[in-house]
Amino acid sequence: MVKSLLDEVMTVSLRRGILYPSAEIYGGLAGFYDFGPIGARIRNNLIALWRNRFIERRDIVYEISGNTILPSPVFKASGHLDHFTDPSAECQKGHVSRIDQLIEEKLQIHAEGKSNKELAEIIAQNKIRCPVCGDPLGEVKSFGLMFGTNVGGERRQAFLRPETAQNIFLGFKRVQTATRAKLPFGVAQIGRSYRNEISPRQSIVRVREFSQMEIEYFIDPNQMNECPFFEELSGIKLNLVTQEEQEKAAKKKSTDYSSIQVTVKDAYEKKYVPNQWMACTLGDEVVFFQELGIPENAVRFRHMRPEETPHYSGGNFDLEILFSFGWKEVIGNAYRQDHDLRSHMNGSKKDLSLELEGKKIIPHVIEPSFGIDRMIYAILEHTYRPKNKSRGWSWFQFPVNLAPYHAVILPLLNRPELEEAARRLYQQCKLQGHSILYDDRGRIGRRYARADEIGIPKAVTIDPQTLDDQTATIRDRDTAQQTRHLLSEISILLKP
Ligand code: ATP
Repeated sequence: MVKSLLDEVMTVSLRRGILYPSAEIYGGLAGFYDFGPIGARIRNNLIALWRNRFIERRDIVYEISGNTILPSPVFKASGHLDHFTDPSAECQKGHVSRIDQLIEEKLQIHAEGKSNKELAEIIAQNKIRCPVCGDPLGEVKSFGLMFGTNVGGERRQAFLRPETAQNIFLGFKRVQTATRAKLPFGVAQIGRSYRNEISPRQSIVRVREFSQMEIEYFIDPNQMNECPFFEELSGIKLNLVTQEEQEKAAKKKSTDYSSIQVTVKDAYEKKYVPNQWMACTLGDEVVFFQELGIPENAVRFRHMRPEETPHYSGGNFDLEILFSFGWKEVIGNAYRQDHDLRSHMNGSKKDLSLELEGKKIIPHVIEPSFGIDRMIYAILEHTYRPKNKSRGWSWFQFPVNLAPYHAVILPLLNRPELEEAARRLYQQCKLQGHSILYDDRGRIGRRYARADEIGIPKAVTIDPQTLDDQTATIRDRDTAQQTRHLLSEISILLKP
């Protein structure tokens, strides 16, 4: 049987310690994965690249690190307690299905945002049954997605946050006062989020505990078209799926959309996006995805349809990636206007407004919300290279900055002089700031294969000639070509 790309990627991921099910020895729980030694390195590198691009390079973004358990009034005010639900239905045998997804899969139509009544009608009209056992499905109900808990002796109700964003709004006044930041400025957070998904699936694409990197850009509502990054990003090209295109496709009962290509400048000037800030946010993401090794034609922005977005949205644009199982959201971009600060002002009775030229204003918010796990899975699929005639093993073509190690150092033979030279080079490269693996176990071909399977860009082999002329070979992962270099030059040649 031909394996799907997902199965192939997961087979290597499990074997090489990229990721594996949590609590596997006890049978685990669906929708929970751990990153192993290689996956954790890739994850850390991804976070470092993101932090560099979106925080360090910008003078106006501040990072916080907040708690994942928050008291229930937070989620009452944010609306999550009442509205953060997915439609579900149970069959007589007790299998629970997420109904909008089930309809989308069966009928190839968009079902997100439809009411439970509308979904129930579609289920009945199309005689859709339980995908596990084929029994009829029961009533369509709203299923709350937050994990609840009780805190301490007082047993106060609390929830695990379903997104990192809320901490940013809660601490908004503290951060602004402490940093003396003036609008526009951003507050970022990287951390865990939790959602009790009805149907976790597709490896780490839909899980119940995951990580996000979110930024809230706080902007003077009168300056939504004065983004400081506009000049830098105006020429970047965006693949855009317009709402009109989606309407046209819906009439043909299709979700096979074509996209148009517009520059950031045109997206703003021709009003494809609500404002300059949104245009720049999308442009920044395109540049970032190029760094990650995901081809340009596998990245698009879908303008969400009105029924998919909340009433306060000034425009949402999902960054979608083409996976082997179709296009899927990886970043949610939302123009949230002043909804969040205003809701927390109402809920907490605290003033979260700022004073600007003698007037009180509530900043508007542009929110890009990146999912780390989905991004990692997208990188795995797009950099995966199956084995072929010239290479008898599969491998990952990670960009150097994402790869778990810059290089592996391999003494060709188990001879003390070679091992000593290899160890010396290993230490030198480490001192130069490289992340390096040392591998002296097994045949050399096997060791190249192991390095390729975890996407290490260079393999440096120390052989008997090294002892004569102080040179070693560097094997390039992508071409499998070997070249000889002086030991003293190797560390420089490994630089990303
Ligand atoms: P979906 O419709 O696929 O459930 P969403 O619209 O609820 O996603 P957002 O609330 O916009 O997602 O979250 C922002 C990002 O967080 C997503 O684009 C995704 O990358 C990530 N994310 C959300 N839910 C999950 C999940 N269950 N597992 C892994 N990543 C997730």
